[in-house]
Amino acid sequence: MGALDTAKELAKLVQKLDNIEVVQKVIELQGDLMELQERFQELLDENRDLKKKLEAPTELLFQDNMYWRAKGKEEQEGPFCTKCFDGDGKTVRMHGGESRGLTCPHCKTFVDTKTAAENRRKASQARQANRKDRSRSILL
Ligand SMILES: [Zn+2]
Repeated sequence: MGALDTAKELAKLVQKLDNIEVVQKVIELQGDLMELQERFQELLDENRDLKKKLEAPTELLFQDNMYWRAKGKEEQEGPFCTKCFDGDGKTVRMHGGESRGLTCPHCKTFVDTKTAAENRRKASQARQANRKDRSRSILL
């Protein structure tokens, strides 16, 4: 039995006492309970929506030791600090200013973007060279 049902039963019992003040207080209590129940339901709904947001895939892309978020078909937003996102779930934008990289203003993580970009370019060139070698061996 819920609190509202109990309050209704109490209101019926109290009416038998023939004390108008007590009846009024019980009716007031019923109203307060109904308000609380409505507010409670609103909070449950809000909590459910927030949980959904938290569980939704973040669609963050990992590249050069930083995260990027797809924005539209071609655009990307970011970069964001991986330490802050993986640890606290915060998307903190990396800041420039250093010649070789970016720094997180929150946790001070430094990412050497030049080395990362060079490594990515070398890996891409190696893949292309590998592909050319394979296609040449097919031709021979
Ligand atoms: Zn950080």
